[in-house]
Amino acid sequence: MSFEKLGLIKPLLSAIKELGYEHPTLIQKRAIPLVMAKSDIFATAQTGTGKTAAFALPILQKLRKTSNDENRLIKVVILSPTRELSIQIEDDIQKFSKHMSVKSTILVGGKDITAQQRILKKGVDIVIATPGRFMEHIENGLKISDISIFVVDEADRMLDMGFSKEIRKIHLMLPKRHQTLLFSATYSDKVRKLSKQILTKPAFIETAKKNTTVDTINQVAYMVDTARKAELLAYLIGSRNFPQVLVFTRTKVSADELFLELQKDGLKCGIIHGDKTQAHRLKTLNQFKEGKVRVLVATDIASRGLDIEELPYVINYELPSIPEDYVHRVGRTGRAGRNGEAITLLDIYEKYDVRDIERLIGQKIPQEVVEGFEPDPSIRRKDQDELKLKSEHKKPEAKRVRKPAKKSFCKTCFKEKKKNYKKRLILEFV
Ligand code: AMP
Repeated sequence: MSFEKLGLIKPLLSAIKELGYEHPTLIQKRAIPLVMAKSDIFATAQTGTGKTAAFALPILQKLRKTSNDENRLIKVVILSPTRELSIQIEDDIQKFSKHMSVKSTILVGGKDITAQQRILKKGVDIVIATPGRFMEHIENGLKISDISIFVVDEADRMLDMGFSKEIRKIHLMLPKRHQTLLFSATYSDKVRKLSKQILTKPAFIETAKKNTTVDTINQVAYMVDTARKAELLAYLIGSRNFPQVLVFTRTKVSADELFLELQKDGLKCGIIHGDKTQAHRLKTLNQFKEGKVRVLVATDIASRGLDIEELPYVINYELPSIPEDYVHRVGRTGRAGRNGEAITLLDIYEKYDVRDIERLIGQKIPQEVVEGFEPDPSIRRKDQDELKLKSEHKKPEAKRVRKPAKKSFCKTCFKEKKKNYKKRLILEFV
């Protein structure tokens, strides 16, 4: 199957060719004809599968006859969870529409709203927006009566971030006859519920098994003591000569601590998390993309939508709070069919949590030990028995309880971590 066979117009085919895409990916093969046929879509597709082009290409095809009139109204709105993802979607749209006269813009929070309004006044066909900021524009009088396509990208992430109300509100305000395309990396109950609320007779596209990780990713977990995680990380990066690596922590605090520790080790690092300004996040991401930063430390907020080409390694410095986030994290590597490696540094406190992830992805993550970093058996035996006992008594519905923030690698907070873990177990029993 070729892009030509999908019936795409010449300006799009030329742009695709210039980008070096040879064949459509599975999601593109399935979604492009359906979008062109005006069907609503519910697609479960992980990042890295080519899902942006799957909706952007047919949308652009539909806009081919758009006028350049300054008074034209928005035809397409794409909701995305974060500024970074919005920027990446727009970037892709710009590349695909290189030989067309379609105009797009980004409406995200944290940026001057009047500047955004000035751009909108000049006439825009596509907006890529975060839900909150798009609502603000509507409240300020943005005309949405011409919108015929509504895309909800990374729906599961947006729901996790609490945008359910905004998405439904926006949907209700749009013209009755519009096409809705819903994309989600995971297939949770929340997403299913939303799909029932906003989709009409949708075509269902499932390009990956529920919550499975991409086949091209090698996954391994190294057992290590909490206090030696940072040391092991620096060792792996150095001894294996990782050119670039994305490292995930569970909390902002541990991201900050790890960042400082790695800097002390002389590694060129960047850090992205929710407390960093947008300007900082974009600058860091660009430095990483340009190869000026070797290690990018990030929390889960950054795990979605970051499109960093050919990222060979992802390291889970700490397991995520929610098992589904593991899928999103490791989805940063092995993109568009390339090979990747996802390494998890697993301490005694996470040994039982990893089972929730394995259950979700339907496969075992091999556990190994790096020579010289063997876990201290005295910590192991004593705590392992206790943890195992408690884990066996866990209520099934308690599995998804968010864990309290924890400081993980800092040597001095080892005891505190132990206390936290016990507290968490108690919380999960409540
Ligand atoms: P996405 O899932 O949209 O985040 O896309 C992941 C990456 O795959 C991006 O870097 C795209 O440029 C790339 N990509 C998308 N479609 C194709 C294709 N048909 N062939 C090769 N690369 C692609």
